Amino acid sequence: MSDTIEKVKCLIIGSGPAGYTAAIYAARANMSPVLYQGTQPGGQLTTTNEVENFPGYPEGVTGPEMMMQLQAQAQRFEADIRDGWITKVDFSGDVHKVWVNEEKEIHCDTVIISTGASAKYLGLDSEQKYLKLGGGVSACAVCDGFFYRNQEVVIVGAGDSACEEAHYLSKLCKKVTMLVRRDEFRASKIMATRVKNTENIEILFNTETDEVLGDGQVVTGVRVINNKTNEKHEIEATGFFVAIGHKPNTDIFKGFLELDETGYIINTPGTSKTNIEGVFVSGDAADHVYRQAVTAAGTGCMAALDAERYLAAKDATFEVSTSSYN
Ligand code: NDP
Repeated sequence: MSDTIEKVKCLIIGSGPAGYTAAIYAARANMSPVLYQGTQPGGQLTTTNEVENFPGYPEGVTGPEMMMQLQAQAQRFEADIRDGWITKVDFSGDVHKVWVNEEKEIHCDTVIISTGASAKYLGLDSEQKYLKLGGGVSACAVCDGFFYRNQEVVIVGAGDSACEEAHYLSKLCKKVTMLVRRDEFRASKIMATRVKNTENIEILFNTETDEVLGDGQVVTGVRVINNKTNEKHEIEATGFFVAIGHKPNTDIFKGFLELDETGYIINTPGTSKTNIEGVFVSGDAADHVYRQAVTAAGTGCMAALDAERYLAAKDATFEVSTSSYN
């Protein structure tokens, strides 16, 4: 084994509520976890404004603040939190191999995957063009809404995320037009009602995006189509927000782990176990049903406990700690 290969008892990939919770539990169980944060330290919640449904925060908490607290809690127990992006894995042998930034090789006794999910886009050429130019297309109202203060914007989607983001934008922007492709919302009643009751949000049902319009540099409007009547019309807007769900960040595990057709990792029901021994999954990388911060944290805990038990079964010298169960 070359000197450049590091050996790690428990490697955690990803830094949302799942990853940090796994790190807290693994660190308290003497597993010396190493956690790689990925390209978006803190995960999706860092793009969420107010989290009002995580138990223990009666007044709510911002996503970034909660992530900072979870990181600090993991570090208090000496979890090794690192910058870096896992670019390749090899789970074909007894030792689980992982590469960081295409260079550094790590051999792991256990791996906990908490890579979460990423925002989806419509895939229109015009959308991708202005996204790449940084000219007015965004999948994160909380990150980018500020740039559209007192302007008119369009948002696509009808789930809780779209409602939350539309409401957030309505507080900054002059007008928000919401494009809903069916004749009803997918979002929970409370979120949909909040949007419907907001004066400067106009909801267009049965309406899809035909093209994002622009001057070659920045977005100037959106051409939409009513999918019942096929009528098209243009809406003036300087910002085009996409809030149509997420794709699990699991591409690097293809060929090793069992994934469903969308790419979610398939775990043994009721556990965090994958089809590879010693590789565990937590959070949105496997969860297409609940997808909440609190459920991600819960499965992060499960993954650390499953990893600990796996290590104990494999190595009689590794003692299962009692502290992690308290
Ligand atoms: P969802 O999958 O719930 O909703 C995606 C929405 O995008 C749907 O309305 C869907 O339309 C629409 N959509 C998908 N593809 C297209 C397309 N090509 N063109 C137009 N519209 C499209 O994703 P969310 O991100 O909203 O929510 C994910 C999970 O996170 C949910 O469980 C949600 O409850 C939760 N969440 C909770 C929050 C909270 O409680 N504060 C905040 C945000 C999310 P259609 O309905 O027609 O399929």
